[in-house]
Amino acid sequence: MVTRKAIASILSDYGDIVIATVCSHSSLQIFHGARQEGFRTLGIAIGKQPRFYDAFPLAKPDEFLIVDSYADILDQAEDLVAKQVVTVPHGSFVEYMGSEVFAKLPIPTFGNREVLKWESDREKQREWLTSAGVPMPMKIERPQDIDRPVFVKYYGAKGGRGSFIAKNHEDFKESIQPGMKYAIQEYVVGTRYYMHYFYSPLASSGYALSRGSLEMLGVDRRDEANIDEMYKLGAQEALRKMGLLPTFVVTGNMPVVLRESLLPKAFEMGEQVVERSMELFGGMIGPFCLETIVTDKLEFKVFEISTRIVAGTNLFIAGSPYSDLTEPGMSTGRRIAREIRIGQKQGRLADILS
Ligand code: ATP
Repeated sequence: MVTRKAIASILSDYGDIVIATVCSHSSLQIFHGARQEGFRTLGIAIGKQPRFYDAFPLAKPDEFLIVDSYADILDQAEDLVAKQVVTVPHGSFVEYMGSEVFAKLPIPTFGNREVLKWESDREKQREWLTSAGVPMPMKIERPQDIDRPVFVKYYGAKGGRGSFIAKNHEDFKESIQPGMKYAIQEYVVGTRYYMHYFYSPLASSGYALSRGSLEMLGVDRRDEANIDEMYKLGAQEALRKMGLLPTFVVTGNMPVVLRESLLPKAFEMGEQVVERSMELFGGMIGPFCLETIVTDKLEFKVFEISTRIVAGTNLFIAGSPYSDLTEPGMSTGRRIAREIRIGQKQGRLADILS
């Protein structure tokens, strides 16, 4: 892991920051938001310059860096630092580069990289969330213990790929991929809400925590193929016999709002997770998402945390029903750039970059 001291020393030479990210996932929003806050931008692309940015001039990066693979970004670190680059991580950036390589990238990066080891290991993630007091779906220790519908998932952010439902040990054995680390949770029946928060250690107003404050910038629900549409074809057992197995690959996102009476709990959970992160590893900074299911008893179960910008925030490039009540037109991408701007003005960049 690159040390905070090394990053602080790089930052001492920074003046005119360039915001960079990998050309995928939420890059349009990140570049657009950075530009709104007056930053220059750089897009890192694999193989060749993507053409789709030509269709979105307000979100097209000022320049591109083309590399052969994600790992090659590491070789370009010196040049990127010379350009005064700050990288903004997103799900694809970290997952495709590999969290170990990403942890070593000697370029200032938005957020606290210590969070990676607490997020990428599902055991540690559970330890963090449950010790924060956040309710999670029950964990099933061993496949032999499956006595109810369960949800089986692999380690890392896979956009739902590979996850499956099992009702017993037989189902599990049929679907499990050998050699992959997995976690088994009870299958929670309810409605899914993916809540987008932003924690600022620099802010002094708003929903105050012991240090800094917490914002809610939006909520989405994911479209997942093919599970979301499979009901149209009838009962799952019959489908299974036909070789049609439910999958959870994310194909898009829909905007949603919570019942207003759920907001106090949503904020309480966000607060608990941030406060605990300060005790465990010096604090999670910036955007994060609690991925939840609300049952008909109006109880949340948090099945996962994503500790950086999630793709569902792409719905809210022009603001959301929540961010409109803090500052109209504030996207998560723009909020990240705003935080960097504030950090720069207050001489506190080292508190939000690592
Ligand atoms: P991500 O890209 O968010 O990291 P992932 O591949 O890690 O995705 P999860 O987000 O954990 O996978 O789960 C994928 C989908 O499976 C969820 O969006 C949700 O629809 C469903 N799901 C996950 N856990 C449960 C659960 N305990 N009960 C019911 N459904 C669940």
